Amino acid sequence: MILHLFHDRRALADVATLKVAIEECFGAFGLQVQESGYLYVPLAGHKLNAAKLLKHLARASCRKDALWLVDRELFYPEIGPVLGCSAKGAALLYGGLDPDVLAREALHEVGHLLSLEHCPHSCVMRLSTTPDEAREKPARLCHKCSNRLALKTGLERI
Ligand SMILES: [Zn+2]
Ligand SMILES: [Zn+2]
Repeated sequence: MILHLFHDRRALADVATLKVAIEECFGAFGLQVQESGYLYVPLAGHKLNAAKLLKHLARASCRKDALWLVDRELFYPEIGPVLGCSAKGAALLYGGLDPDVLAREALHEVGHLLSLEHCPHSCVMRLSTTPDEAREKPARLCHKCSNRLALKTGLERI
């Protein structure tokens, strides 16, 4: 699978670092990251409606698997503020997080794109709603999630 990595204007500096982190974690499962350049955010306001942006990303990326790093904070209607979120091949991430948190949340959202769900163990797939919670989890998959993903990617090759 190829993951298309888009960025909003000021989030550019983090793109190369994220590409490395994502490929380190998921490369063994056949994932490659392709830097796909700048994608304009068509919404006004200090906080971005994540549901609307996910739909926009799905259209803009022609429904290829994509992660979009954006400059402004995100909120999801009826849920509230989110660090990142994903739905059906499209994922968003707020680029203003500090590098440790940003990398963990990027891995978390890519895990969702690869069909992993939330995990209660010491694992990057553990749900975190604040930067402090995100910092407490490891920047890698637990054995259960690794095995689940290996099984899935193995089955897909048959
Ligand atoms: Zn999640
Ligand atoms: Zn796990």
